Amino acid sequence: MNDAVRSALILAALAALASSPVMSQSVRNAAPWDQPFLPPAPAWNGKSRELLRDATDPWVTPFEADPEHDFSPDYADTHAWFDRLDAASGLIRIEQFGVSPEGRPIYAVIASKDGAAFDPAKPVLLAQAGIHPGEIDGKDAGMMLLRDIAFNGKDGLLDRANLILIPILSVDGHERASAYSRPNQRGPRIQGWRNTGTNQNLNRDYLKLDQPEMRAVRGLILKYRPDLYVDIHVTDGMDYQYDVTYGFNGEDGAFTRSPAISAWLNDRLKPAMNAALEAEGHIPGELVFGLDGDNPRAGLNDGGLGERFSNGWGSAAHVPTILIENHSLKPHEQRVLGTYVFLEEALRLLAEQGAALRAAIQADSALRPAEIPANFVSDEQPSSTRPFKGIRYETYDSPASGRREIRWLGQADPEPWALPFYASHPTLTLKRPEAYWVPAYRTDVIERLRAHGMTMETLDAPRTVSVEMLRLVDPKLAAHTNEGHVQIAVTQVTPERRDWTYASGSVRVPTDQPLGDIAVLLLEPQSSEGFFAWGMFPEVLNRVEYIEGYAIAPLAERMLAADPALKAEFETKLAAEPKFAADGEARLQWFYERTPFHDDRYRLYPVGRETK
Ligand SMILES: [Zn+2]
Repeated sequence: MNDAVRSALILAALAALASSPVMSQSVRNAAPWDQPFLPPAPAWNGKSRELLRDATDPWVTPFEADPEHDFSPDYADTHAWFDRLDAASGLIRIEQFGVSPEGRPIYAVIASKDGAAFDPAKPVLLAQAGIHPGEIDGKDAGMMLLRDIAFNGKDGLLDRANLILIPILSVDGHERASAYSRPNQRGPRIQGWRNTGTNQNLNRDYLKLDQPEMRAVRGLILKYRPDLYVDIHVTDGMDYQYDVTYGFNGEDGAFTRSPAISAWLNDRLKPAMNAALEAEGHIPGELVFGLDGDNPRAGLNDGGLGERFSNGWGSAAHVPTILIENHSLKPHEQRVLGTYVFLEEALRLLAEQGAALRAAIQADSALRPAEIPANFVSDEQPSSTRPFKGIRYETYDSPASGRREIRWLGQADPEPWALPFYASHPTLTLKRPEAYWVPAYRTDVIERLRAHGMTMETLDAPRTVSVEMLRLVDPKLAAHTNEGHVQIAVTQVTPERRDWTYASGSVRVPTDQPLGDIAVLLLEPQSSEGFFAWGMFPEVLNRVEYIEGYAIAPLAERMLAADPALKAEFETKLAAEPKFAADGEARLQWFYERTPFHDDRYRLYPVGRETK
């Protein structure tokens, strides 16, 4: 018996005892965290329940076999179940595409009528579960759907589309499992942990590609070129009626780097998807985030459009990407069944309308915008008002917090809410150069660009090129670490034209490629999603060499005598800045910076821009 099953049995036994009249005092006094404390969920009995198989079915999934449908199998049991399916069905095969930091194989389950090589005419759906392992609905839904494709008459879904399921992406986080991983989420009763074995949040790693899991999934995407990529999560945050919320960059006219793809998702997928979910008894909604936990009516925003997230990356890489956020307070069963309906409908839509989506991908991949908006932040003012299906709530005095707290009542508010919606806007516009030059010594940066699938020219001999280099003005280190990095922000740069010799092994990254926008976002030091912003060029902040006072003072005196313009500039500064005038060190430093002895590479960002 593995730990997850053992824990499940213990918890089931506790639950049974708790409802028994002969319950012992010790059980009655079970720890408060083992008692229900979440707000209630509205009763639900959707038609999609008919999808469930019972224990008489030899292919019942562990989720279905659990009487409360509140269980999700661990890594080993999931793998064993898919191994059986692979052996029993010619439509299913397992493909390992990576290894986790703790050594677990990361695998995908592929359903196709084409055998090992896909028919390139067929659209591909890639469904990814467990990038945040506690949010695992996609695994349990995917097991059911693949089983029904293999044995229960749904193989027709594969006539004109292929399905790839990643049942668990963050496999190490998935095995850090307990009943205490997701306090805001209603099941499954044993849940994995949000971060990886190395304490990283993989849904912040789409652009910097620090983690082996993310490099692996990038490789899988480059290999199979999915037409639709669905990244499946469960929310935290405010209560509402919706059970399945989903979104994408460019929804409802919001900013997108892939306008044709966003139009397909808005106009073709969304109406059909919402209709399919509603027909099965679900309550689909847009992906939105409450602004104020203490005031549910304060408004909503889009949660950010950044490229570190799957949906932001997909928009920049021209890979149609949907982020599903099932609602954490809805029971695991309701969420899993909603996910099943979503994936099945997505396959159907790809079969029917995949050609138009392919055309949209091609159109967006050909875009080469001269200006690239970046560094998005939430608007100060709402741009629209959205109808919203709210849940009733009240407030009460909490002796624990000593203030008013919200109590969600678990009842749908019959009155529709109208909530202000705050969109995002860019705070920086980056110019697209012809290419970037990355020096050979930054092998780690070059490796990440390669993992992205970037087209690059690698120098096999040193080459001197005329490039624009950026001098960083007053870069600021963050006070806290973020995802294992100390971030560095720079808001001002001074371009300098240089002839720079790049060593053998350096790379030229042209921006005239489908991933050109991503090259700009990664390699511009001011981009909040870039390598510099993640603190990955700290070496440029160290100045090397200095000059002794007995050397610079006489040199400075000669400089003053030889250069009347310099003398005038110095005297103006003395007059204007008394603090500077009183600081002998600062005065000598001012001269040192104006000599060729000064470290010329101090705060000089080493990635060059090739411009016309
Ligand atoms: Zn998540």
